[in-house]
Amino acid sequence: MLKYVSTRGHEERITSSAAILRGIAPDGGLYVPEEFPEKIELGKLLEMDYARLAYSVMKPFMPDFTEDELLGCARAAYGDKFDDPLIAPLVSAADVNFLELFHGPTLAFKDMALSILPRFMTVSAGKNGVSKKIIILVSTSGDTGKAALEGFAGVDGTAALVMYPVGKVSRVQELQMTTTEGDNAFVLGVEGNFDDCQTIMKRALTDPGVLKTLEERGATFSSANSINIGRLIPQTAYYFYAYALMVKKGALKLGAEVNFTVPTGNFGNILAGYYAKKMGLPVKKLICASNENKVLSDFFNSRTYDKNRPLIMTASPSMDILVSSNLERLLFHVSKDAGRVKALMDSLAVTGVYDFDASGHGFEGVCATQEEMLRAIGDVFAKSGYVMDTHTAVAYASYEKYASAAGDKTPNVILSTASPFKFAFDVLKGLGEDVEGSGADCGWPEKLAARIGVAVPPRISNLETRTVRHTGRRKKEDALDYIKEFINIIQTR
Ligand SMILES: *Cc1c(COP(=O)(O)O)cnc(C)c1O
Repeated sequence: MLKYVSTRGHEERITSSAAILRGIAPDGGLYVPEEFPEKIELGKLLEMDYARLAYSVMKPFMPDFTEDELLGCARAAYGDKFDDPLIAPLVSAADVNFLELFHGPTLAFKDMALSILPRFMTVSAGKNGVSKKIIILVSTSGDTGKAALEGFAGVDGTAALVMYPVGKVSRVQELQMTTTEGDNAFVLGVEGNFDDCQTIMKRALTDPGVLKTLEERGATFSSANSINIGRLIPQTAYYFYAYALMVKKGALKLGAEVNFTVPTGNFGNILAGYYAKKMGLPVKKLICASNENKVLSDFFNSRTYDKNRPLIMTASPSMDILVSSNLERLLFHVSKDAGRVKALMDSLAVTGVYDFDASGHGFEGVCATQEEMLRAIGDVFAKSGYVMDTHTAVAYASYEKYASAAGDKTPNVILSTASPFKFAFDVLKGLGEDVEGSGADCGWPEKLAARIGVAVPPRISNLETRTVRHTGRRKKEDALDYIKEFINIIQTR
């Protein structure tokens, strides 16, 4: 049976359900499938709906789940919580195809995996005889937080603690999180950036003192970040789904190659594309689009990963990341050498730099500046009436650069990761509006609605009138202590 191992060489081999419960390996590594399962036959996917297709793609990765369990999770996750019956519709505009991954409850692609992860957790807890309260730690650059709160809302036996960087998320993102109701939801503003939140979370997940307190309290940790393999596996499905939709609309012949362009931050979305390729999807290029924090596009072009640079605050905040956690998984799959991965991660922790040659695996690193991103929003709207969000626009601008430099005419799918209404201030800028203030101000979604003649999605239209329930703030130095206090007060039974 397929087992999961740590990227850093810890000797245990565990099932998919155990890996999902743990979130991170005891040595700080990430769980990866020991090998890739057999290739998936594409033809049989064509007539499936999203939930059935997702089941078919996930099943080989999760052999310890029964058909009833896994299909049940998929059907419950990918249903009427999404505002489009296709779940992830494919829209052709401006000579490209956008796979819209933002039709879930929080209007960003994180819903694709976080709608199903809590269901995996419940099933996994049952399988592994875990009856302790599961505390889900989440660090977010803006979108994961609310998607996790939404996904875990009302899920028995779990509580979610979300840490987000204060002042570095959009008004809509912040209110989505801080107005969350329910007694298993907790939100902490950290005075720092996303990388700080991620570091605090990883530290808490493996800190012996914290874990001891947790044990005494009869609780256990897991993570809803893309370090959890239970986030990655469901994401693999929509690459196959996009392919099936491309074939059905006649944009691709069955078996022909396709490119995907992915706006990238923590490298989780695009890594799922690599997994899809390993499972037999004919992917030619995975175009890794970066914003001005172009640590990844530099890595693919120079073979050096170097996080020693200032983090730039951009209009695509979910990509403002210098430590892309999931790259560690690619290093493992490519090198097949956990000792080497551990050495590289140690080097990253100490010097902020490592060298690694990941060429020959289909990745292309491309970046787009803020100006190029804004221009892309305006151009695509002028050409086709299609409105991209700022992250999707980074991908579009990067794809254009790649396609013209490489002369690559392969059909291309851009992964569209957020609704433009989530980042309305900057989208309006891209549309040429003379806006003043910042994305942290209110009223932008309504102004965007007026500009493009589309109503604000109901899910965010009344945010300003909701009560802010989570006002906790901590300096980044004090956040780990907060987590300890939190464990001590939370109801664990
Ligand atoms: C999270 C996110 C990204 C980046 O995805 P990764 O998996 O972290 O690379 C891009 N766009 C949006 C809107 C996001 O929320």
